[in-house]
Amino acid sequence: MEKTHILLFYKYVKVEDPTKFAKEHLSFCKNLGIKGRILVAQEGINGSISGIKSQVEDYKRELREDKRFEDIIFKEDLGFQHPFKRMVVKVKNEIVNLGQKVDLKDTGKHLSPAEFLEIYKNGGDVVVLDARNDYESKVGKFKNAITPDIKTFREFPKVLDLIKDKKEKKIVMYCTGGIRCEKASAYLKENGFKDVSQLSGGILTFGKEFPDTIWEGKCFVFDKRLTSRINSDNDTITHCEGCGVLCDLYRNCSNKDCDKYTILCVECERKLGGCCSQSCFQKFMKERMEKANLNMEN
Ligand SMILES: [Zn+2]
Ligand SMILES: [Zn+2]
Repeated sequence: MEKTHILLFYKYVKVEDPTKFAKEHLSFCKNLGIKGRILVAQEGINGSISGIKSQVEDYKRELREDKRFEDIIFKEDLGFQHPFKRMVVKVKNEIVNLGQKVDLKDTGKHLSPAEFLEIYKNGGDVVVLDARNDYESKVGKFKNAITPDIKTFREFPKVLDLIKDKKEKKIVMYCTGGIRCEKASAYLKENGFKDVSQLSGGILTFGKEFPDTIWEGKCFVFDKRLTSRINSDNDTITHCEGCGVLCDLYRNCSNKDCDKYTILCVECERKLGGCCSQSCFQKFMKERMEKANLNMEN
């Protein structure tokens, strides 16, 4: 079977008419036969798509023919299945939702993966900050990084409290592909942090160049795969929420009102019906019974 190529990309660039762009881009993607999810806003584009090699090559080439995106960087991964069910192009206010205006001309200094690793190896008084959500850093992070207790990027401003005594220190931040750090680093600078840097290309780019170094666990990704390997072995740092065995199989709790990202081993997934807890399991079963009864009445 031909392998699926998965592309991740973004660029902050002025898109005058996102609605028009989205409409045209959707038909372009559908014609190519790729699947994925792309967000468009006046501030730029943020997407992930998948297809066989020839399809993603066509996509890259055609997108780069548009002057605005001629230098866009694609991060590429391989898989066996489409991690997306369909193709969507959505118009948004922001391509990542911080909910605050920041000056994207004054972001943190970009560090190449090699420079990032160098800083790590030199040690010293550096604050390494994870700009992602808590369920992401839980399955994998750079060693000794500060991992904020936030559920969405909109909560990132809370991080100010967490590091408020570190305004004079060197802050080095990272996220999955770099898109969040562009905003998050600008936000920290606006709030008085003097020396802010960001990992260019994010964890995914770093992982390709320097696996088995300073990363532990896996990298959370926002598609059906949920996690992607960074290191060469099956590096796992989390435990099943049901029985505590070493495990990093994420799923959404089957109780749709909860929907929480839950780590469950195969055994517990079966026992708990894919729910995060006994109480969710009971609600989930109750709903199923009600549905079944309804079907019988009809
Ligand atoms: Zn378990
Ligand atoms: Zn639940």
